[in-house]
Amino acid sequence: MKVNFKKTYNFAIISSLYISLFATFFAMILVKEMFKYSFSSLLYFGIIFIIIIYIFSFLVIQYRVERFIYRRVKKIYDDISLLESSTFITQPITTDMEALTREVKKFATDKKLEIEMLKIREEYRREFLGNVSHELKTPLFTVQGYLSTLIDGAMEDKVIRKKYLKRAEKGVERLIYIVEDLDMITKLEVGDLNLEFSEFDIVDLIQNVFDLLEMKADKKRIKLAFENHNIKPIFVKGDKDKIQQVVENLIVNSIKYGKEGGLTEVSVVNLTKKKVLIRISDNGEGIEKQNIPRLFERFYRVDKSGSRSEGGSGLGLAIVKHIIEAHKDKIYVESEFGLGSEFSFTLEKVKLNIS
Ligand code: ADP
Repeated sequence: MKVNFKKTYNFAIISSLYISLFATFFAMILVKEMFKYSFSSLLYFGIIFIIIIYIFSFLVIQYRVERFIYRRVKKIYDDISLLESSTFITQPITTDMEALTREVKKFATDKKLEIEMLKIREEYRREFLGNVSHELKTPLFTVQGYLSTLIDGAMEDKVIRKKYLKRAEKGVERLIYIVEDLDMITKLEVGDLNLEFSEFDIVDLIQNVFDLLEMKADKKRIKLAFENHNIKPIFVKGDKDKIQQVVENLIVNSIKYGKEGGLTEVSVVNLTKKKVLIRISDNGEGIEKQNIPRLFERFYRVDKSGSRSEGGSGLGLAIVKHIIEAHKDKIYVESEFGLGSEFSFTLEKVKLNIS
């Protein structure tokens, strides 16, 4: 490897100055004693002597020091470049110890940060795998349980057969949506989400989600409605499918955690000149204050017992947050335990809105 060599001369300049001063002083005393020169000749001798000695010792010291330090410093550089730090080996080699110490220190700090990041990633990977297998286990065992019972003889009974097959199917459905959520969150977390921006009517999109979830809401006699009944079209800019998923996840949650016969209301309001705020509120179970900051974490659930009837993958809100942040927008939550919750997010307005 050809390396540049950044020279420093301070050491040689100062050392040769000492040597030449001392040598000249000494030589002048000797010459004065031995040859009894006049003062002007002695001065003349002294000047020529000091210049010659200075140049000579400067050259020797500089050359020797360079060779000495260069060999050692180069070894340090070579050892470090074995670790393949591209930033380090591209720099010219310096024999300036202060600069070298600084560079090595910086190199060590960078490496420490890198190691710390790798540790965090490793921890994240382990936690993620643990969570994934935990999430998949429950529905898998449910399906396996029903199928085994059927094989062991339950399929002879027509009524039980149908019932158990239906339950097994439910388990498989749950597995599918967990896997779909996992797929989505993985893409989101590696930043692999290619947003396809378009301009669309958010009111129309929300109405579509209402229609899609009507049956689910009916089962709990929950009413899905706009806060303002004669709401006009409002055009926004974003990835329509992903925003639909956000609205769907939030409304599904408002149904899941809503009370029987409750109400989910959606409103779209002008927030600033450029942004609208979409609010989804319910009068359901609400969330205790201490749980609010962690809601958007992957796999976070308020009720961890798994005993409640409504169980998701715990990824819904993490997905929502990722999508909104990928749009460079914000999501907010307000909740009163026992009274209800309100999730809201911003979106970019399209200019053609008349407002
Ligand atoms: P899950 O799949 O468990 O619904 P989410 O990420 O969608 O996962 O939600 C995380 C947790 O936040 C839920 O387990 C629930 O406890 C709480 N939560 C979300 N939305 C609401 C809501 N509208 N009302 C009350 N609690 C909610």
